[in-house]
Amino acid sequence: MKAAVLEELKKPLQIRNVDAPEISSSEVLIRQNVTGICFRDILTVDGFFPRVRMPVVLGHEISGTIEKVGPDVEGFRIGDRVASLIYTPCGTCEFCLRGDENLCPNKKTFGETVNGGYTRYVAASASSLVKVPDNVPDVDASISACVTGMVYNAIKRVGGLEEGQKILVTGAGGGVGSHAVQIAKALGAYVIAKTSSPWKAEKLHSLGADMVVTSDSFDREIKEKLGEGVHLVLESVGLPTFERGFRSLRPSGKLVVIGNVDPTPVNLPLGLLILKGNTVSGSISSTRDDMKKALELTAQGRIRAIVHKTIHLEEVNSAHVEMKNKMSMGRIMIDVHE
Ligand SMILES: [Zn+2]
Ligand SMILES: [Zn+2]
Repeated sequence: MKAAVLEELKKPLQIRNVDAPEISSSEVLIRQNVTGICFRDILTVDGFFPRVRMPVVLGHEISGTIEKVGPDVEGFRIGDRVASLIYTPCGTCEFCLRGDENLCPNKKTFGETVNGGYTRYVAASASSLVKVPDNVPDVDASISACVTGMVYNAIKRVGGLEEGQKILVTGAGGGVGSHAVQIAKALGAYVIAKTSSPWKAEKLHSLGADMVVTSDSFDREIKEKLGEGVHLVLESVGLPTFERGFRSLRPSGKLVVIGNVDPTPVNLPLGLLILKGNTVSGSISSTRDDMKKALELTAQGRIRAIVHKTIHLEEVNSAHVEMKNKMSMGRIMIDVHE
């Protein structure tokens, strides 16, 4: 099978012919149709993740149909449609045992420490899998771990968003933000979308944004229009929006940072943090429970994958360049059929 392989950091991926993976007794073999390209893949190529083991098949947005099942696997059968976490949890640490497997310090991430999704067949541990409802398309299944499940984790589990509350989504036109707008709306929130690209406003309204803000001083704009700050800020940009986002909070509000943010240190006004009793949290990836919730919302037709385009494996390096240059809204998917 063809695979896009990372052989050397900061160099283009190589399209290689590799053998389909052997599965261990606790794994299944998944046959994929599509897989997503994530900004994290680009950061991996650029050397931001020190644990990467090369050569490795890149990619972690894995889903498809089970073709083989290891003898120790319970709960999954040949023919089941599944989606995978972006990692294999250890299953025994304090975090795994309490259902916070996204925080597992021993997890093995696809496309970094084990072969990942930029190919047709992937071996995955049953402990990473959830079943995909029949009416959920392949593309939506593929992004249920790293996009919709991750956003659900940040908004609901970490952010605690309740129906009727106000949420500000920064970077709303991006891959994370465009799905966050939909999920927040599906959870019954009043959604304010911040984008630096005014041409995306119409699209953001169609995804469920009640208000779109584009100015640099969007915190003032929000408070002027709403008369108060927001309950939750989902921050997926970093330095350019962090402080204004923080200043958009109402007393007792929460700011949750997710995604592949600009890692430059930011300014956190400590006086405001104390005076308003605000909280700043991080949120990483998703748990299987988050994936199930995201897939349920998808099955109900309340959220859908925003796809910019679908490419073939050979075009993956140019797709990475395109994403670096922010020329797209929504996910670029790879069709992995040969
Ligand atoms: Zn991803
Ligand atoms: Zn663990």
